[in-house]
Amino acid sequence: MLKSKISIAQNGNKFTVKGLALTSAPISFRIYSEANPSIGTTCTLMVSTLGVAGVPASKTVSVDGSINITASVTPGSFNQELSVGSYDKSKINITQNGNTFTVKGLAPTISPVTFKIYPKGYPNNGSTCTVTVSPNSYAYVNRGLPSRTVTIQRIGSIAPWDPWASLIADAANSWNNSGAGVNITITNSYSLHTINVDSYGWTDGTVGTCYVAPDGKSSIIEIDTTRFPDNDERKRGVIVHEMGHLFWLANNATPQSSIMNYGDVIKGLSTPQPFDVAHVLYKYR
Ligand SMILES: [Zn+2]
Repeated sequence: MLKSKISIAQNGNKFTVKGLALTSAPISFRIYSEANPSIGTTCTLMVSTLGVAGVPASKTVSVDGSINITASVTPGSFNQELSVGSYDKSKINITQNGNTFTVKGLAPTISPVTFKIYPKGYPNNGSTCTVTVSPNSYAYVNRGLPSRTVTIQRIGSIAPWDPWASLIADAANSWNNSGAGVNITITNSYSLHTINVDSYGWTDGTVGTCYVAPDGKSSIIEIDTTRFPDNDERKRGVIVHEMGHLFWLANNATPQSSIMNYGDVIKGLSTPQPFDVAHVLYKYR
């Protein structure tokens, strides 16, 4: 017999034939009497082509949700592990538990992400799934700036050495470095987009506000300096949050981490999170 294509183990008079290489050429072997080799019977085997069942051709997943795909190897008699091929890890995340794959949405995208699930060692025998990651409906407000490049005028009486000046600069930089394609310039010169920090002392608990004109051509951010007096992290978080509204982001309560979730800001979050970056990228796609 051809040992590169099947293996046969013997236990008494029981023979276990294991498939090794997929082949369309049949493999023959003979089982015969030890006492008289001329008394035997021939068996012809074919190692069947492996396939995968249970993989949907296409799926949609929410950017803060996940889907499970449970696949199996065909024919069913094969007790074979499955593997997942390469995919765009900036857009989805796949974890494997046995033959169940959990696909989690990361960045909303109109260009679908494709991956393949195949029997381990047989990448050509798999099934392909195409996933589209949809934005979350509650991620957006109904207005924002038409462009991600904006010059914001710092108004009011803050001197350049005032701690708030550097907090505002830090907040702008954290957006600029977030990967969201944002470019915020802070200036003292005239702009239709302004930020002001002042002791507003709003009585309804408001810490900051952001107003964007319906045409998106002007905006006003206001930050109350009387809140979080000893906590720069929270102050910066509030500014980053209000700047997020410029780019269409809504207050949210996503289970993922988000600078647009005020609960996260209170906990000390002060930079745009992947959820936020993903939705800005999708809005300005
Ligand atoms: Zn808000």
